Amino acid sequence: RPLIGVLALQGDVREHTHALQACGVDVVPVRRRSELAAVDGLVIPGGESTTMDRLLKVFELYQPLRERIADGLPVYGSCAGMILLADRILDGVGGQATVGGLDVTVRRNAFGRQVDSFEEDLDAPLLGAGPMDEPLHAVFIRAPWVEAVGAGVEVLATVRSGPAAGRIVAVRQGVLMATAFHPEIGSDHRVHRAFIDLVRAHRRREHTRR
Ligand code: GLN
Repeated sequence: RPLIGVLALQGDVREHTHALQACGVDVVPVRRRSELAAVDGLVIPGGESTTMDRLLKVFELYQPLRERIADGLPVYGSCAGMILLADRILDGVGGQATVGGLDVTVRRNAFGRQVDSFEEDLDAPLLGAGPMDEPLHAVFIRAPWVEAVGAGVEVLATVRSGPAAGRIVAVRQGVLMATAFHPEIGSDHRVHRAFIDLVRAHRRREHTRR
């Protein structure tokens, strides 16, 4: 079984841990370099990206994380985790860094000018929510959106209606995945399963290469 780490510096670590366990994988909290080295995939939870940025510096995790991502580690970021995976951020707090890896520009607190939090049903065929399926019920909490994507980035979901209609809220690039919303809240684990599928496929490729 794959071992999935949840970056456990701040944020909704417990919710992600439960969602992943419900999908039948082993889960460990990651706070140090040695823990990061042991995992087959990593989740960066929702929370506050500026706080996580500060703690990543304190725990000296930026460099090892960037190295593992450059090496092909599958990573999934939700909300603040999406901000941390983005190569570029708009409306970041002065000096706020990101881990990067995803060739996207993310705007922090993008929906905040309209409402702080809201829920939406999304179509996302690649996340198991195609035309014949239940839509994905997405919870947004002071969420970012993806303002621009690079050529190698696949858009997984956009907002269906309202003032933010068309805004990109889920993306994938290779083994990196991110959502602006929080699938760890609630009992629908399609997003986590999609990520675990990525981790499994990546592990198979690694095994055949060796
Ligand atoms: N607004 C938060 C940030 O900038 C993200 C919110 C969340 O993760 N729910 O990090």
